[in-house]
Amino acid sequence: MTKLKVLVIEDNEQNMYLVSFILEKNGYEVIQARTGIEGVDLAVLHEPDLILLDIQLPVMDGYSVARAIRNRPSLAKTPMIAVTSYAMPGDCDQAMAAGCTGYIEKPIDPENFMSQVEQFVRGNERNNP
Ligand code: MN
Repeated sequence: MTKLKVLVIEDNEQNMYLVSFILEKNGYEVIQARTGIEGVDLAVLHEPDLILLDIQLPVMDGYSVARAIRNRPSLAKTPMIAVTSYAMPGDCDQAMAAGCTGYIEKPIDPENFMSQVEQFVRGNERNNP
């Protein structure tokens, strides 16, 4: 069975490591982007099954990244989860307004992360890995 592809756009090395580790352990293929611009490029190139988007990114913030991704017809319906800081409650509304499908709060909880992610992958036509 083909692995589902998840694009992770995250500038923090520890979070990138943790999220990638959990996803790969659960059978997903991970594509990593460390800047918003790279994230948009890799989204266009790979057309991932799911995008995890850090909101606090340098230069091009997560909202701009979300809008740029949603402007691409091939990515208009890709599930896209904002990863927002628990301390910034307004982030979630702004992320949804920018085109995100949902959000997960930081710090990442390794115990619950996969069930949070799978809520957004479910409903996809393809089978889970
Ligand atoms: Mn960040």
